[in-house]
Amino acid sequence: MKISMVSEHASPLAALGGVDAGGQNVHVAALSSSLAGRGHQVTVYTRRDDPDLPAKVLVGPGLTVVHVDAGPARHIPKDGLLPFMGELADGICADWAGQLPDLIHAHFWMSGLAAIQASRRAGSALPVPVVQTFHALGSVKRRHQGAADTSPPAREWLEPWVGRTADWVIATCPDEVFELKALGISRSKISIAPCGVDLTLFPGTSDADPKPRTHRILSVGRLVQRKGVDLVIQALPLLAEAGFEDVELLIVGGSGDALTLEEDPEAQRLHALAKELGVEDKVTMRGQVPRDAMPGIFRSADAVVCAPWYEPFGIVPLEAMACGVPVVAAAVGGLRETVVDQKTGLHVPPRDPEALAEALEKVLGDPDLRADMGRAGARRARSRYSWERVASDTEKAYRSVMAAGVQAGEDLEPLEGAAL
Ligand code: UDP
Repeated sequence: MKISMVSEHASPLAALGGVDAGGQNVHVAALSSSLAGRGHQVTVYTRRDDPDLPAKVLVGPGLTVVHVDAGPARHIPKDGLLPFMGELADGICADWAGQLPDLIHAHFWMSGLAAIQASRRAGSALPVPVVQTFHALGSVKRRHQGAADTSPPAREWLEPWVGRTADWVIATCPDEVFELKALGISRSKISIAPCGVDLTLFPGTSDADPKPRTHRILSVGRLVQRKGVDLVIQALPLLAEAGFEDVELLIVGGSGDALTLEEDPEAQRLHALAKELGVEDKVTMRGQVPRDAMPGIFRSADAVVCAPWYEPFGIVPLEAMACGVPVVAAAVGGLRETVVDQKTGLHVPPRDPEALAEALEKVLGDPDLRADMGRAGARRARSRYSWERVASDTEKAYRSVMAAGVQAGEDLEPLEGAAL
């Protein structure tokens, strides 16, 4: 198949060794290269955010990344990108030059807008089928973040419109299917393909980095408040009271908005909290770390903690599991599915530092339990979450949409109100 991927803000090239890697970058990079490895011709379209980027990068056999001029050629936070989706669509059509792909697969709601417009503007009698993966939903974000949500207000109606208009929607977990149905998206065109884990990069046998204290707890992810790193800091004094004094909390990740750790307001907030709670000496903030340094870090941890308020999927727990490390996870979103309570880790209620401390006591205090959970996690990651398997599930969705043909969908009128 000839496949066009759209990932407006998250370039797959950032994930290939770069530090500006969040889940979507990793997902698009791994899925695209796995599909290319299965013999498909994949082109990923992403926004040019640096004037020095080449127009096209041939990543490997069957996989090309195209940097499309859409808005200023510099980093812009993703919530400011909506006005440039029309230009992105035009750039995609220009690159197609009449040689249409079999389908276009969009990642994130704004890419969906660009994909639908490109599909309709390409000038063929039949629009190119559009497959949509949301990665995150505005309805869920608003529920948890309320007024702090920086998404453009139009997301509230444009995102469900993208879901209803796309020919197929791929959800990453059952929880997301429930949310998509609540947006009025028909169940008959939704299938599930989870995120995966790179089992070559995270083989479960790499060397562990040295750790400075008896126990290391690890938190990995973009430094945004909803990831709940402050809850883990709050658990540290409780752990010390329970006798776990010699503990380090290693925090890996940055804001992703090209700031240094010193300039990062969330890093400063976490630092101030650790100071206030008297656990400053137990907390290490590493900032963003390149992908190839991650396995050694994961393997040095006694437990990985994922304590988000909500989480659409969460690749970090899979990486921890692949490395044989137990995961203490808030029982939300995709984490309920990936981390099996009492088997590959422990579930805790969200936003509950006491529950986090209790779960960590259990894991840190029992080396046999840690080893059992680590082995079970590694088995689960290998058997269910290889990118090869995710690519095969995705391919099934592609075949379904191609067999069903393009639906009439809704017309593009709503986009006129969005001034794209
Ligand atoms: N990551 C990384 N370096 C960092 C921080 C994160 O390579 O400094 C990677 C991490 O290993 C994972 C991804 O970024 O593969 C984060 O994905 P996840 O789905 O957990 O979170 P998201 O960023 O999508 O909210």
